[in-house]
Amino acid sequence: MKKVDVIIIGASASGLMCAIEAGKRNRKVLVLDHANKAGKKILMSGGGRCNFTNYDVSADNYISHNPHFCKSALSRFTQWDFIGMVGDYHIPYHERSHGQLFCDVSAKDILNMLLDECKKASVQIQLKTGIQSIKKMDDDGFILITENGKISADSLVIATGGLSIPKMGATAFGFQVAEQFGHKVYPTRAGLVPFTLQPDDKEKLSPLSGIAVDAIVSSSRSSFRENILFTHRGLSGPVILQISSYWEPGEAIQINVLPDLDLFDYFIQKQKEGSQQQVKTLLNTLLPQRLVASLVDDNLMSKSIQDTSHEQFKQIQSRIQSWSIKPNGTEGYRTAEVTLGGVDCNELSSKTMESIKVPGLYFVGEVMDVTGWLGGYNFQWAWSSGWCAGQYV
Ligand SMILES: Cc1cc2nc3c(=O)[nH]c(=O)nc-3n(C[C@H](O)[C@H](O)[C@H](O)COP(=O)(O)OP(=O)(O)OC[C@H]3O[C@@H](n4cnc5c(N)ncnc54)[C@H](O)[C@@H]3O)c2cc1C
Repeated sequence: MKKVDVIIIGASASGLMCAIEAGKRNRKVLVLDHANKAGKKILMSGGGRCNFTNYDVSADNYISHNPHFCKSALSRFTQWDFIGMVGDYHIPYHERSHGQLFCDVSAKDILNMLLDECKKASVQIQLKTGIQSIKKMDDDGFILITENGKISADSLVIATGGLSIPKMGATAFGFQVAEQFGHKVYPTRAGLVPFTLQPDDKEKLSPLSGIAVDAIVSSSRSSFRENILFTHRGLSGPVILQISSYWEPGEAIQINVLPDLDLFDYFIQKQKEGSQQQVKTLLNTLLPQRLVASLVDDNLMSKSIQDTSHEQFKQIQSRIQSWSIKPNGTEGYRTAEVTLGGVDCNELSSKTMESIKVPGLYFVGEVMDVTGWLGGYNFQWAWSSGWCAGQYV
């Protein structure tokens, strides 16, 4: 039987980072993955340019049943540490809105950097290897039966991510291992995902397909400002992905598609100035015509500003600045960027990521109940949690 010090299941963001750090400590590390290629999600991330971290990272950018858990790891391996690695490899990158950092050329640069670091640290990566069973030995360590034989290790790291994009090899494996060893797993659901619409709304909004506008979108638990994109399937764009992680089925969301203006005050001001414009003409100077036509009834907009009552202005404002819509659902794991829920952090050490119940068993990355906002936060969690575990495995 093959014997190593550390087995890491999952050769992607968190698993590779953990492997590099453990390898640097001269631990004999074997990374196993059932996929035919390491880091598939890294390659497809950020539209192929990998939004690898963010200039501004704090626990407030994460969703978890234990909102304090991520603080320790995020402060021990920070965005600056990862930016330092990227700098050492001379990988060109740029900042986009909200401090998001993307590769200039390709996400391949990030994966190649991780693989190169693995090589330097003598990490062995074995792909196309499904795991059939895991057993904890009576003394210390674990025995894994894999498609390619039996392997034992002192430490076992689960870095198998969440359920998003099953086509890319996502499985529930990590959650099953957690349950096998008596860990609580919070129910999972798709996050950072577009909304689908109720049939009536879908029909009404279908002419808007392709329109993107700056908007504030709010749910009962949170609020974000970024672009909303109307698609032939429903609602998408960064602001929708962000709010989707806070949305509960059956709940309505509120959309303000004119976030920089008090529309009621603006109408009153125009009325006082004696404007003879039609309400519709005025609105069409502020928003795409098709959007205005879908949101506000024509009979409310066809009068001139002088002939419109304050009550009617309020109605128009409400349609445009606190438009309430109840999504039908989300597009699910097929297109979701992350999985909410997962392995309960209260049963893991926030310093080492080790199980409090089973010594030698570690969980890193998205498999845990820590979910980042859109903007590089999920990779930063993978780097930080993987790095921390790598110091102890
Ligand atoms: C389309 C898309 C774009 C994204 N873009 C960004 C972005 O730009 N910035 C950002 O911060 N986040 C982004 N994310 C989220 C980010 O990719 C994940 O949060 C991150 O990859 C999680 O890292 P991980 O190592 O925990 O898991 P993963 O990257 O999901 O890796 C898990 C690994 O485990 C392997 N595995 C799974 N099951 C098994 C099994 N049963 N046996 C063996 N191996 C197994 C998989 O093959 C995979 O290699 C994006 C996600 C998607 C889907």
